[in-house]
Amino acid sequence: LLDAARARAEAARGLNALISLNDGAEQQAAAVQARLNAGELLPLAGLPIVIKDNLNLTGMRTTCASRMLEQYVSPYTATAVQRLLDAGAVVVGKANMDEFAMGSSGESSAFGPTLNPWDISRVTGGTSSGSAAAVAAGLVSVSLGSDTGGSVRQPAALCGVYGLKPTYGRVSRYGLVAHASSLDQIGPLARSAADLALLMNVIAGHDPRDATSLDAPPAFVAGTPEDLRGLRVGVITESLGGNTAGVSAVLESTLDALRGAGATVGEVSLPALKHAIATYYLISMPEASSNLARYDGMVYGLRGEGNDVGSSMTRTRERGFGREVQRRIMIGTYALSSGYYDAYYSKATRVRRLIANEFSAAFGQFDVLVTPTSPFPAFRLGEKMDDPLTMYAADVDTVAINLAGLPALSVPAGFEEVDGKRLPVGIQFIAPTLQDELLVRIAGGLE
Ligand code: GLN
Repeated sequence: LLDAARARAEAARGLNALISLNDGAEQQAAAVQARLNAGELLPLAGLPIVIKDNLNLTGMRTTCASRMLEQYVSPYTATAVQRLLDAGAVVVGKANMDEFAMGSSGESSAFGPTLNPWDISRVTGGTSSGSAAAVAAGLVSVSLGSDTGGSVRQPAALCGVYGLKPTYGRVSRYGLVAHASSLDQIGPLARSAADLALLMNVIAGHDPRDATSLDAPPAFVAGTPEDLRGLRVGVITESLGGNTAGVSAVLESTLDALRGAGATVGEVSLPALKHAIATYYLISMPEASSNLARYDGMVYGLRGEGNDVGSSMTRTRERGFGREVQRRIMIGTYALSSGYYDAYYSKATRVRRLIANEFSAAFGQFDVLVTPTSPFPAFRLGEKMDDPLTMYAADVDTVAINLAGLPALSVPAGFEEVDGKRLPVGIQFIAPTLQDELLVRIAGGLE
C-alpha cells in the first residue's frame, strides 16, 4: 500500500499536493507489520495517510507552507496523528496548504499552489489544499486537514471528496499549529462515509493535553437510507442567493434525494448570518496576530539579521511571512488595540453569540441544516489573488459554523459543467453540538 501511494504521489507530482515525503514511512510500516505478527488487531493497519503540514510529527518538518518554518523540524507528535499511528496508519507525507492556514484557494503557499485534479487550471480551495487533492487524486484514501473557517470543507467540496469539521473540542488540537484558537479543529477528508467513520473513531476523544478537549467518546458508523427516514432537514435561506446555477441544481437534487428517502425538508432563516464573514475575520485575525507573535526569530524557525532585537524581528517577519499573513497580523493587531477593541473585536464576539443563538433556535425545529459548501465550484488559479475581500467571500457558507463551534460535513453531491469540464459541487450538512455522528450517518444514507 505504501509503495502504491508513493508511486501515485510521484505520478501526480505536478499537482503539488505534498510538501514533504516521510522518510520514516518504511519504519512505520515495519512496526505495523511487527504488531500484526504479534497478533495485534489494528483498525487502520498499514493504511497510508497524508497529514496537513500544520500537524506535528516527530522528526519531520512542519512548515505550515511558510518560509518562516521551512527548516523547522518537530520534536513532538500531534495527538490526532499519534492516534493514527497507534491504530496502524502510515504517514506517507505532509500536505501543501495556504500559509498558516490563511486563504480560501490553496494559492497562499510559500511552495506554490496546489492544482485541482479535476482541472489543473483551477484551485483546490483552501486551506487544506494538498489534503483534498491527495484524496481526490487517489494518492491516499484519507487525509487530515484543519478547519478554522472552512478549510476542510471548502477544499473537500471543490475537489469532490468528503470533509468533516468536527464539533469544537471533539478532536484534540495538541500539536496543531494554532491559527485562531477559538475556531481551530482538525478534521478528516475521505472518499466515503465509512472511511470518515473509521478515521473519526480513531482520532476523536478526550485529550488532557488540550484544555478545550471534550470527553465525548466517538461512535461513528456510516449510515444507510434508513437513517434519512423522518429526518427533519432545514435549508438555510440565507445560503440560497448568490450561487451558480450548477450549485443551485445540485442542492435541489440533494433535497430531492432526501425527500425520496423519507426526510422532510423545510426552510429556516438565520438573519445574523449576513454578518458571518465580517465577524469571522474580526475574530480570527486578532487571534492569529496573537498566535503568530511567537515567530519573532528568537525561538522557532527563520531568523532575520538586525542590529538590535527590534530590527531583527522586523527583518524576520518581512522575510518569513507572505503577504496574506502579514495583512492579517496587521489588521488583527489593529482590531485589538486600545480604542478599537470595543468597536471591532468585542463587538464581533457579541455577534458571534447572536449567530450561535440563531443556530440553536433553528435546531429546535430541524435535526440538521443544509447549505451549499461553496457558492461556486473551483475557480481559476489567480482569479481572486489580487482581491482579498473577494477571496474572503468564498467562505460565506462555512465560517459561521466555526463561530458557533458546530460540526459540519461537506458531501460530494454532484457536478457543474464549466467550459467542458465537470467540476465537483459539495453540499454542507450542519448538526447540533456533539452530533457529528449524525452527519456521517446522513452521508452514508445518501451514498
Ligand atoms: N478561508 C478561511 C481563512 O482564510 C478559512 C481558513 C481555515 O479554515 N483555516 O481564514
